[in-house]
Amino acid sequence: MECLSSPVLIVGAGPVGLALAIELGSRGHRCLLIERNDRVGYAPRAKTTHIRTRQHLRRWGIADKLASAAPFGIDYPSNVVYVTRLAAEGLARFADAFNCAPVRNDLYCEHAQWIPQYRLEEVLRTQLTTLPSVQVRFSCELLSVTEVADGVSSQVRDLTNGATFEVRSAFLVGADGSRSRVRETIGARMEGTHGLSRNYNIVFRAPGLANAHRHGPAVMYWQVNSDMPSLIGPMDRDDKWFFMPTAVPQGVRLNDQEAGTLIRRTTGIDLPYEVLSADEWVASRFIADRYRRGRVFLAGDACHLHPPFGGYGMNMGIADGVDLGWKLGAVLEGWGGPALLESYEMERRPLHQQVIEEAAANHGLLGNQLWREGLEEAGSSGAALRREVGAMISREKPREFHSLPVVLGYCLGLSDVIVAEGPPLPLPKGGGTYRPSARPGCLAPHVWVDADRALYDLFGPGFTLISTTDLPPQVLGRIRADAGETGIPLRILELPDTRYGALYGAPLILVRPDQHVAWRGAIWPGAGLLRRVAGWGVADGKAPAADVTHRI
Ligand SMILES: Cc1cc2nc3c(=O)[nH]c(=O)nc-3n(C[C@H](O)[C@H](O)[C@H](O)COP(=O)(O)OP(=O)(O)OC[C@H]3O[C@@H](n4cnc5c(N)ncnc54)[C@H](O)[C@@H]3O)c2cc1C
Repeated sequence: MECLSSPVLIVGAGPVGLALAIELGSRGHRCLLIERNDRVGYAPRAKTTHIRTRQHLRRWGIADKLASAAPFGIDYPSNVVYVTRLAAEGLARFADAFNCAPVRNDLYCEHAQWIPQYRLEEVLRTQLTTLPSVQVRFSCELLSVTEVADGVSSQVRDLTNGATFEVRSAFLVGADGSRSRVRETIGARMEGTHGLSRNYNIVFRAPGLANAHRHGPAVMYWQVNSDMPSLIGPMDRDDKWFFMPTAVPQGVRLNDQEAGTLIRRTTGIDLPYEVLSADEWVASRFIADRYRRGRVFLAGDACHLHPPFGGYGMNMGIADGVDLGWKLGAVLEGWGGPALLESYEMERRPLHQQVIEEAAANHGLLGNQLWREGLEEAGSSGAALRREVGAMISREKPREFHSLPVVLGYCLGLSDVIVAEGPPLPLPKGGGTYRPSARPGCLAPHVWVDADRALYDLFGPGFTLISTTDLPPQVLGRIRADAGETGIPLRILELPDTRYGALYGAPLILVRPDQHVAWRGAIWPGAGLLRRVAGWGVADGKAPAADVTHRI
């Protein structure tokens, strides 16, 4: 039997597996990505790529590639409009939902983007082709996993010819989605609630629909009516749209023909509707009881699932891939210690739990809950009811569409590799104001350095130490010596400018490769700090030599 070896085996080339492979490949690490489909991007699911995801794309040098892939141009307005029916009355509207407008903003260096998931995946896959250390094998399915003394042995079937081969790796990551085989093999269980609602994702073609109503361009029109509360919106070029009836009653099944009839009825617009696909999906909320066993990890939908309202699933999963990517990379390079790998679950799981609450709250106020008898009536009583429901939407739904406090204001769960300043900050709710913070665990606040460069662009691939004052030469020399002695990659940025001091709240700030603050303070504490944030424990004396078993 053929036997391949790779330091990291990634199962699943959805957005999460692709992100992890890019993070590893950008750092020059070998990894093998297997995917049972014959290509990426089958399912038209996510459309919201958050600011934070695009910030990762910027770091990888491909944010502009995603912009070029925007189906309607990057300037297409990301409005969300509430109507009774597309052909009828408006109820409320939100401009620039998710902060997609491509304008300069002092709070972030990348705007969000409305783009089908399969187009994002295509951009990520293309990036992989530029990374020689990453090998991708499509039409290959993971069958089973065995942990062996010095790594993981995986059985994989090549679906093109039925042949089975073995992959030996130091680490295995299951980015294999909600029905994860990897999750099964490590004995992790999903805990939560199945079946919060039954919904459909219908993709259809309708030339002329964009101009057949008077609500102007938008990314989503939420229809609140008695026929079927639903979301509808343009999805791609060639007049491709999506239609998503929500909380569909049990017993109602939609085939292609019925889906077309329902689109016509709920919109009130009589056009030829060519239904391309009609898939049922069930909203659930689940989190795995653990994300790791030994050298095997879970990421993305394999360990957290929730309703897609607010667009958190894929975006959080991509961030999982980034988190695991730099940490596995550090361990493979020998400067990352065991606590770094332990920190993955400690930091991500509490965050996932809080974001799941946010997504569940969004799911709790769909068109189904907004519908009122008489909402569509002509005359003053119908108009008064529409004003009332419109006011409620304007009051309650900014939480979902203006979610910057959640997308950028989250703080990682505290682990041993973050030097905490008190208990972790709770996740802010969507709809409020994002207040950047440089507290350890938070995302380093963004600053424009000049016209085009963001502070993030100056960070190194390893840790970055920001000094907001001039460093005396002997201190600078000491820090450099500590970095040299520990072998931990450190870039020092001297930025003696009051705006950094005010925003970052300390003279010295240590930022991780994922742009999160690990520590801040007034006095450089020495090499022990570097060892700690790199995962060698709090009181540890010296980083042990690299574990050769990681060097498969
Ligand atoms: C209607 C809808 C709308 C959504 N909208 C959004 C949104 O706007 N924003 C957002 O962030 N999220 C959204 N989501 C969620 C998002 O689609 C998922 O969170 C995301 O796809 C998860 O990515 P993943 O890589 O973890 O898993 P997946 O995308 O499921 O990828 C897993 C991959 O693993 C492969 N695989 C599985 N088992 C094996 C095996 N044994 N061997 C080899 N390969 C295997 C599969 O073929 C698949 O390609 C939405 C979801 C739905 C249903």
